Amino acid sequence: MHMHLTDAHCHANFSRFADGEGLAAGLRVCADACFSGDWEGLRDFNAFGVKKAYGIHPDLRISEFDDLDFVEREIYERFLPEVQQYLISADAIGETGLDANITARVPMDLQRKVFSEQLKLADKFNLPVIVHCVGAWGETFSTLANWVKSGENAAKDRILRGEKGRCFLLHAARCSVEMAKEFEKIGGYFSFGLRELNSPKGAACAAAVSEDKLMVESDAETSHEKISETVEVLAKIRDRDALELSEKIYLNFNNFYGK
Ligand SMILES: [Zn+2]
Repeated sequence: MHMHLTDAHCHANFSRFADGEGLAAGLRVCADACFSGDWEGLRDFNAFGVKKAYGIHPDLRISEFDDLDFVEREIYERFLPEVQQYLISADAIGETGLDANITARVPMDLQRKVFSEQLKLADKFNLPVIVHCVGAWGETFSTLANWVKSGENAAKDRILRGEKGRCFLLHAARCSVEMAKEFEKIGGYFSFGLRELNSPKGAACAAAVSEDKLMVESDAETSHEKISETVEVLAKIRDRDALELSEKIYLNFNNFYGK
């Protein structure tokens, strides 16, 4: 029996791939274009079964020399309107979130605005959110908790219509176990790559979250080898059979990205 392998979060220069074969042979993946220059390439990338996410990364690819007023205007006047033409056919929005390591270049206040605008777009297009968080776990939690809570009534209507409520994936999860439990209470999913699993904090987090919220990722150009190794490492951490675990992760992937 072969493993069902999934990559919950990968990136690539899609213009280099004529189809999905070179990128994701034998895998189900969600490919993420989170800078405006990458959106079109992902949309034009034809591969059966590849889920697509578009968004605005907190990094914004700006330097400390950029004029922040200009950047903010560009975001509101250009990028937030433009990304919506991609979100119409998307499977998720993101990655978006908060990154405490880059505040010298991208002030936290600007990151907050861009994050909350994308949560509004998640509602508008009824999409799950891929969340990037580095070192700002408390604020990311409270932002998402408010978002989930304020959507509870709308979520009931959606569920009655057979749609999903507000849901999110913490990618590259390596928060404390206590924090992970809090994210879990508000419906969060978690994905882990080798980078997280090889760090004590990430491994502790990966051992603690419940199995039906668990996914794996490359956060880079994906491959069959990379993902099977990730599943093997995760299975060891959780003391599980790798094949069984990969089946469970496959179900979680479909639950999260399926509409
Ligand atoms: Zn990423």
